[in-house]
Amino acid sequence: MKLKKFTAEGYRNIDRCEISFADGVNLFVGGNAEGKTNIVEGIYLFSRGRSFRTSDDKELVGFGKDGFRISIVYEDKDGEEVLEYALFGKSRQRKKNGYKLKGALEMLGNFRAVLFFPDDLRLVKGEPEERRAFLNVAVSQYSTAYMSDYKRFKTALENRNALLKNASKGQYFDEGELIAWSEAMADYAADIYLARKRYVYILERYAKEHMLELSDGKETLELDYKSDLAGEFSDKESVKEEYRRVFLSGLEKEKLAGTSLYGPQRDDLIIKIDGNAARSFASQGQQRSVVLSLKLAEGEVIREIYGEYPVFLFDDVLSELDEKRREYVTNRIKKMQTVITSCEGTDALSRDANVILVKGGTYVPAYR
Ligand code: ATP
Ligand code: MG
Repeated sequence: MKLKKFTAEGYRNIDRCEISFADGVNLFVGGNAEGKTNIVEGIYLFSRGRSFRTSDDKELVGFGKDGFRISIVYEDKDGEEVLEYALFGKSRQRKKNGYKLKGALEMLGNFRAVLFFPDDLRLVKGEPEERRAFLNVAVSQYSTAYMSDYKRFKTALENRNALLKNASKGQYFDEGELIAWSEAMADYAADIYLARKRYVYILERYAKEHMLELSDGKETLELDYKSDLAGEFSDKESVKEEYRRVFLSGLEKEKLAGTSLYGPQRDDLIIKIDGNAARSFASQGQQRSVVLSLKLAEGEVIREIYGEYPVFLFDDVLSELDEKRREYVTNRIKKMQTVITSCEGTDALSRDANVILVKGGTYVPAYR
């Protein structure tokens, strides 16, 4: 995957821009609030289907503008492709090669990128929700069906929760409806469970290698997907059957609680270093190594499945890493195309990089 060009108009603090990217490292250098993350957000929007900073894309419209338009030109195995995204008033338009896409889900699976930004450093110690969010985004890059399965799952869950809430308040609810939503939820939960479980299995293999190298062969990383299922299941029918059993046996408890207590919405990714839970025991440095390993592994899984590396987007993270880990990253990323933002450009990186100076929403290549 190669990013060739990014254009924007009326987007965030950018009046108008057209930026060309080089094959290796593209380093965006500028002070705070000049527009570095805005670029990363704009590029990544095409990979994730929406902004990683806001769920309300009206916020992307430049102050005082009627709307915005952004686009990327990239190259994949099929050749050159164009993706566009525009919002003017209530009219939202997504296009691939000039043809309309129906929604954010259709955007997924075209331009593949991996984002690494400072919030990711909370992945190890944060709440399970953050690790589920990491899995959701990563799995959706790897399996195009995942996000639509996930959407259906969420609908079933919300409907089921509404009925359970009525039950807990002693209000009327349709028992038949509850059974129907439980059945639907078991079906979609099985898809979510299997996709995440398979993904974690492949991810672990790569993440483990990185962790070993980062610790000079000393630290063993393990990843486990934690769910409500008692035992290992690998085919959809038996997973679904197991969810049916779990939902049924917990139903009375759920009616009292007024919400669903079991299912993938409560699962977790368990990270262990040398057999100990990283969430409780990892040091600052180990947390950084784990997250770095996971992020690099995320790119490797995509390469394994699709035969090419995604574009790596590193927003402001290199400054968060110490010398040793920074060196590790810089050596690794030589194999792939990266977009890196930084406040200072004095790194060893600048030497071979396409350096772009960022100032007040303008982007000027620094020719050497
Ligand atoms: P830092 O180094 O602090 O992370 P940055 O260069 O990454 O800074 P950005 O997050 O890209 O900064 O933001 C650049 C500027 O864009 C900020 O001043 C922000 O207030 C401004 N901005 C954000 N949204 C809009 C918008 N909708 N319209 C106009 N300006 C905006
Ligand atoms: Mg920033």
